[in-house]
Amino acid sequence: MKYQPITLKKGKDSSLRRFHPWVFSGAIQKKSPDLKEGEVVEVYDNDGQYLGTGHFQIGSIMVRVFSFKKREIDREFWKEKLGHAISLRRSLGLIGNAQTNMFRLIHGEGDGFPGLIVDVYGSLAVVQCHSVGFYHIRTLLAELIQEELPEIIEAVYDKSAQAVPFKAELGAEDGYLFGQSQAWKGKEYGLSYEVDAEGGQKTGFFVDQRENRRLLGEYSQGKDVLNTFCYTGGFSVASLAGGAQSVDSIDSSAKAIELTDKNVALNFGEESRHQSFTQDAFEFLKDIHHKYDLIVLDPPAFAKHHKVLDRALKGYRKINRLAFEQIRPNGILFTFSCSQVVSADHFRKAVFTAASQSHRRVQILHQLHQPPDHPVNIYHPEGEYLKGLVLQVE
Ligand code: SAH
Repeated sequence: MKYQPITLKKGKDSSLRRFHPWVFSGAIQKKSPDLKEGEVVEVYDNDGQYLGTGHFQIGSIMVRVFSFKKREIDREFWKEKLGHAISLRRSLGLIGNAQTNMFRLIHGEGDGFPGLIVDVYGSLAVVQCHSVGFYHIRTLLAELIQEELPEIIEAVYDKSAQAVPFKAELGAEDGYLFGQSQAWKGKEYGLSYEVDAEGGQKTGFFVDQRENRRLLGEYSQGKDVLNTFCYTGGFSVASLAGGAQSVDSIDSSAKAIELTDKNVALNFGEESRHQSFTQDAFEFLKDIHHKYDLIVLDPPAFAKHHKVLDRALKGYRKINRLAFEQIRPNGILFTFSCSQVVSADHFRKAVFTAASQSHRRVQILHQLHQPPDHPVNIYHPEGEYLKGLVLQVE
């Protein structure tokens, strides 16, 4: 099979040589005019030396490279690649684990699949294609997932409609690539969660907070806890399991609150320690005078691109300041940012500013990240998106 070549301008090959997987449009010297979005292409330097193979796409990133070795991109290739991703999760103890069976199987660039996310919730895998190239091979990917994990996977759901580039006009519709709809459930450190893959946000559950939820549980004994931006209530459930005296969950989405209530009931039945509120978190935080010992701030990505970075940092400063000002003495704050464009440094500065505005003494106890089933390609630091701080407020 011959793939269409793309030739780079002189001197534009260094990032690919360092295994960074993106080729920007400005780096391209020559390409065939009839390339179609999603097509497999081979990238060459200006002297005709092979650099990598990837999916062609339209936009400022024009190629996302998934192989730095020249070879046929066939079923065998994807099977081998998936095998690497599975073997990492196996070594992390996430496959066939009765206590924790919700994890990320493929984390885009971090796993050498630029443009693809696959999350596993018990016996369901949810595939989300962010590129046309992966969208075209979604059925093959589903088959391979089923073949390689026959002991756990019963269904694969495609949730790409909102993720694929809309300009590609693929007419993408979400649906099961195999298996059928049911009330999917999964476990995280022995706690049960119902996952609404079909109707929920992103792929249905934020598995990236697994270790941080567990840590929150360890801090929860006897505490009055506020969980803002609760979505499926993961932090609330972990905190109740950790012996919290009370937990209040806040989300602006009524559907999220419904999910939170369901997940609390699934683990604890009627639980008088838990209350939930469908409300804007900024509003709620305005008036929480000394009611809480432990506060979780896990907002959605305030900044999706660089242009809105300043506004996002303002948002982080504001919610953190509200929490610092009102948390009880010796309170503990778990504060997060999941915006890719907000660096750990930016985030820390925003939280630092908020702390100083509250005139309280603050100690950093933990610096938190995404877990190892969300690996970061060392040559693609953009993949390091989740940042968190655990702070004690005197
Ligand atoms: N902490 C969650 C994930 C949070 S996702 C977990 O562990 O799974 C972000 C959530 O913030 C979404 O559920 C969204 O509905 C909610 N949200 C967005 N803007 C909000 C606002 N202004 N006030 C309250 N909730 C908001």
